[in-house]
Amino acid sequence: MGNDLYRRTFRRGLFDFHAGEAVPEVELNVAEYVAAAARAGMQTITFMTKDAFGNSYFGTKIGHKNARVKGDMLAEAIQEARKHGIDIIAYYNVGLNSHVAAANPDYRQRTADQKPITEAFGYYDLLCMNSPYRDHVYAQFREIAENYPVSGFFFDITYVWSNCCHCEYCSSLYKSKYGQPIPQSPAPGTPELKRWQSFQRDIRYQFLRDAAACIKGINPDLLIGWNHAGDPRFGQVEADRHADYFTSEFHPPHYAYGSLLARWKRSFRKPFELMMPSEMGSWGEWTVAPAATLRTTAAIAVANGGSISYGHVAYPSGFLKGRVPDAVMEAIGESNEWVRSLEPWLEGAESVPIVAVLYSIAGKRVLEASALPSPGDDPHLQGLHRILTEGHIHFDIIDEEALLSQLSRYRLLILPDQAYLSDEAETCIRDFVRAGGRLVASNRTSLYDADGTRKSDFGLADVLGIGFTEVSRYSVSYVYPIDAAIAGSIPDMPILLKDTAQKTLRIEAREGATVLAKFTDPALEAKTFRHVYHQHAHPAFPTPFPAVVSHSYGSGASLYFAGPIESAFWRTGSPWLRTLYLNGLNELDPDPLVKVEAPISVEVSVMRQSSRLVVHLTNVREDKAAGSKTFIEEIAPVTNIRVSVKTSAERVYIAPDNTELPFEKEEGRIRFVVAEVGLHAAVVIEGADL
Ligand SMILES: [Zn+2]
Repeated sequence: MGNDLYRRTFRRGLFDFHAGEAVPEVELNVAEYVAAAARAGMQTITFMTKDAFGNSYFGTKIGHKNARVKGDMLAEAIQEARKHGIDIIAYYNVGLNSHVAAANPDYRQRTADQKPITEAFGYYDLLCMNSPYRDHVYAQFREIAENYPVSGFFFDITYVWSNCCHCEYCSSLYKSKYGQPIPQSPAPGTPELKRWQSFQRDIRYQFLRDAAACIKGINPDLLIGWNHAGDPRFGQVEADRHADYFTSEFHPPHYAYGSLLARWKRSFRKPFELMMPSEMGSWGEWTVAPAATLRTTAAIAVANGGSISYGHVAYPSGFLKGRVPDAVMEAIGESNEWVRSLEPWLEGAESVPIVAVLYSIAGKRVLEASALPSPGDDPHLQGLHRILTEGHIHFDIIDEEALLSQLSRYRLLILPDQAYLSDEAETCIRDFVRAGGRLVASNRTSLYDADGTRKSDFGLADVLGIGFTEVSRYSVSYVYPIDAAIAGSIPDMPILLKDTAQKTLRIEAREGATVLAKFTDPALEAKTFRHVYHQHAHPAFPTPFPAVVSHSYGSGASLYFAGPIESAFWRTGSPWLRTLYLNGLNELDPDPLVKVEAPISVEVSVMRQSSRLVVHLTNVREDKAAGSKTFIEEIAPVTNIRVSVKTSAERVYIAPDNTELPFEKEEGRIRFVVAEVGLHAAVVIEGADL
C-alpha cells in the first residue's frame, strides 16, 4: 500500500481557476490546456474543484456549480490528463464560500463583537470550520472521492481568522470545554490567552484530522495535503501529522524564505512542494514573471529536497478566453525541462545531517501566549537562515520531536533564541554535547519556563558555561572588544547590535569558560529629550559583561551569544554580525565536514542518494531596488567556488552534463573547484563515505 506519487514526481502545476460568476461566460478548453500542461512538463495538476467564491467545477448535488460553466470540468480534466500520464489532485477552497454564507449566516467566522468576516483577502466570505459547514465540505469531498479518479486532495484556506472564531458553534464548544465563555480580549501572559490560542489551533486541527479520515475512509491511497502543511510560521505540527505531503506557497522576491521552508519541511521526511505563482509575485496578477525567476524558485525547491508547483490560470472570458497564455506555459516549461534533466540526482535524496537548527514549536507557543517579544515573522529564524546560507553552511531546521529522536545524527546544534526548552530537550542537548556534539546558543535560550516566566538561571548554564545576571537597560549594545580568535575581518571598532524588540543580556562566564567578546554600553539611552546624533548614542563605556562565550563540556563544546544576534542581523543586515557569527562557528568547529568558499549569494545543500553525495550550489541574490520589488531577470554567474568535503570519493562530476571534475585527496578530505555557477550546479560525489 501507499501512494508514492509525491516522492517520484517533481514538476507540478496548480490550476488556480477562481473564475467566479461575475463575467458573462467562464470557459476552459480543457483538452488544449492539459496538452499544454503536459508539454510544459507538469506531472501533477492540482485542479480547481471549488473556488474562493464557493462555485464548484464538478458534478455536485450538494454545492453550487458555477452557472457560467458548461459540462463537468473536473471529469474532462481527469480524462484528458490520463492521456498524458498526468495525475489530478483536487484543489478545494475550504474557508471561502459566499453561496453557503448567504444561506447560512450562522456558519460565518465572527470576531468578538460578532462581526462576520466578509472581506477576507479583500473580497471573500469566510466560514467556520467548527460550524456545521464542515459537513457540507466533507460531503463534497465524498462526492469527489467517490465519483472521480483523482490522486489526492489539496485544501486551501483552512484558516482561523485573527481574533476568531466567536460564532455560536465556537462559543458553545468553548463553554462546554472550559466552563466559561470565550474571553473577549485575553491579556498576554494569562491562562485565558493560552487556552484561547489552543482552542483556535484545535478548530483547524480537528477539521483537518476529520477531513483526512473522511477521505481515507473512501480510499486510503488518496493523498492529503493543504496549504501551509509543514510550515514553521503556522507551527501546527499536530495537524501536519495527518498530511501525506507538505505544501507552502512562497512568493518572489523573497526567495530565501523558500529555502527556509524547505529546510524545515524536509526534516519531517514527508514529500513536499513549494508552490509559487508563475505571475509577478502573487495570485491573480494576470502577468507572468520572468522565466529566470521561475527557474530560481525551482532550483531552491529541488536543491533542498522538494518539488516545485507553479500556479497558473486560464483567462475565463474575453478575447483570450479559455486558454492559459503560451508565455506562461513556456516559462514553466523551460523551468521544468531543467528540473527534469536533474531528476536522476534528486530521486530519493535526503539531507545529510550535519548542522541542526532547533525551532521549537512548544517554545513558539510559550512566547505567543506571553507578553515577551515574539514577533510573528520569526526574525531570529530568518536571520539565522540568512547567516548560515550566506556562510555556505548546510543545515536542517528541526522541531523538538526530531531533536529528541535524531540529534545524535548531527555534528552541531544551533539554538537561536529558544527561550523555552522542555526538561527532556535540555537533557537531550546536554547528553549530545557531553558525547562530543557542538552547540551554539543565543540570547534567551533555556531562560524561560513553560508559563513564560524567567528562571533564575539558564537551564543550559552548565553546558554553556554562563550564568544569568540581568537584562541590559539600554536598547542598543556594541560588541567590543572582540578576541583575535573570532575578529577576522570585522572592523576594529565597537560593532552595533540592535534589535528593536529585544535588549542584550548581562551574563557572567563560569570558571573554565572563555570570553571571546564583551559588550560596550552606549553613552546614554536615547530619548527625544536626551540624545546624541540621530538614532542611538555612540559607544562610550566598556562593560565586564561577555557578549560571546565559548566553553568545553564533556567531549563537546559550546558557543553562546548574549544577545539577539540573529534577529539583529535580520533587521540591520550588518555584515559584521554575520562575520562574528560565522567566525564563532569556525572557532567551535574548525574542521567542518563541508567547507565552501564562494560569494555570499551561493547557498549550499548537501543531499545523499545511497553512496552518492550531491552538493547543490544555488546562486540566488535577493536584491531590492530602493524598496521596490525586483525579479530575477538574468543570472549573474559566480566563479571559482572552492569546495572541500571530508569524504573519500571515486569520481566527482557535475550533473546533469556529466562533466568530470578533477579533485585532490588530502587528509581525509577531497577538494575541488567549480569554475562557474550560473543559477545552479549539482556536484556529484560517487563513492562517498561521509
Ligand atoms: Zn466558529
